Amino acid sequence: MDIDFERRFWARVRRDDSEDGCWVWTGSLMTRGYGRLWVKGRREGAHRVAYEIAYGPFDKALRVLHHCDNPPCVRPKHLFLGTQLDNMRDAARKGRMTNCYRWTSENNPNKGKPLPDYICDAVGRAHERPFRVRAPDGEVIEGINLTKYCREHGLNQGGMWSVINGLKPHYRGYTPVYYPRIK
Ligand SMILES: [Zn+2]
Repeated sequence: MDIDFERRFWARVRRDDSEDGCWVWTGSLMTRGYGRLWVKGRREGAHRVAYEIAYGPFDKALRVLHHCDNPPCVRPKHLFLGTQLDNMRDAARKGRMTNCYRWTSENNPNKGKPLPDYICDAVGRAHERPFRVRAPDGEVIEGINLTKYCREHGLNQGGMWSVINGLKPHYRGYTPVYYPRIK
């Protein structure tokens, strides 16, 4: 990575330098909210480029994962390397996976097929995991069981998951806590 490229890269990042602050990519985004840019004619994830700038070249078969669970974040200390399985376990642990059959990550060779039981178990438990979303009144609410919350509030769980995961900007007044605001 040459120094000129690095300067232009970081110029497209909005940095929050507080202790746990995220550095958010302000350029274009991929589905799921990851930053995207062109490097030598190839489309690359901004978080992957940030990782390489900070820590040097890495095995491209590996995924660059987020400690902060915020897809557009490119702050090097929030990033770590892992396998696709690590990624799924991490997602399940953070309550991001919703359905054993609908997991369609870009590099998953099992795309569209049922996942192994040990992952489905994790997904099942994921419904009991905490969720975080901004309510219509602007308050951030956190819960431990989205199914229960949706039932009690007459909400569609799929719609809520899309918002919680940052895939949709809003659902019935609910918005993602981490949804990046692109001007
Ligand atoms: Zn972050």
